[in-house]
Amino acid sequence: MPEGDTIFRAARTLHRVLAGKTVTRFESVYPALTRIADDRPIVGRTIESVSARGKHLLIAFSGDLILRTHMRMNGSWHIYPTGARWRRPACDMRVLVGTHDAVAVGFNVPDAELLTAHELARHKHMQALGPDLLADAGTHASLFDRAEVLRRFGDHGRDAIADALLNQRIVAGIGNVFKSEILFLAGIDPFTPVSALAEGALDRVIDISRRQLASNVMSRSQTLGPAFGRRTTRRLDPREKLWVYGRGGKPCRQCGAVIQSKKTGLDARLTYWCPECQRSSSAR
Ligand SMILES: [Zn+2]
Repeated sequence: MPEGDTIFRAARTLHRVLAGKTVTRFESVYPALTRIADDRPIVGRTIESVSARGKHLLIAFSGDLILRTHMRMNGSWHIYPTGARWRRPACDMRVLVGTHDAVAVGFNVPDAELLTAHELARHKHMQALGPDLLADAGTHASLFDRAEVLRRFGDHGRDAIADALLNQRIVAGIGNVFKSEILFLAGIDPFTPVSALAEGALDRVIDISRRQLASNVMSRSQTLGPAFGRRTTRRLDPREKLWVYGRGGKPCRQCGAVIQSKKTGLDARLTYWCPECQRSSSAR
């Protein structure tokens, strides 16, 4: 699953290139999209904005029509100058939005629909989403709702903090890489139930999450696909980008203990942690 910073960065890049431009080309392999586009043509509309909401990417067109896509596991948005060669095969194209000088291509995007703003607001996937960690980063100036996040964590007191962090209904934006990295940085044992966390620990986890997601949004290149170059250690050596994720069996960069890994949660995502640095149920 792409991390929130990947979607956010994709949205920001698409926004920079597309906002204010007129659509000259719209294609999709999904009949439901092309049927709506036949009734209410997309070509000729202005692209008003591209934004991220949790792991949904929203392209808003003039005349109250919004293209909502969700990348799920393998989807990605690319943007190319018109006429440039694509880096993915054309058969992977699911939806395409073109202007006179650029084309945005959604590859293997399994979930796409066209909605009015009213329909989007009432959409069950969108209503269920927890507040977005990147809400007030960059250009998307809605305020981050910390109190609501804390309330939603409170409803999942029996869940392990590692599982709760991945639950987009509690807080939107964290994927499996950041989950492990954030808990390492907070010094928290990933299997601690939310209700057993020490006073202030959740606030600290939220602070670290926002800082890590934001700095990964700001510092990285224009790649819109699955992330590479994600970095939490601030080390320059590209082999030392992450603290624990993907490092099972290797020594902790901080204390030398052997990094552990274990499959957890409903979809058996791997969690990585240092048994020494993450002993506590409180935050450092
Ligand atoms: Zn350690």
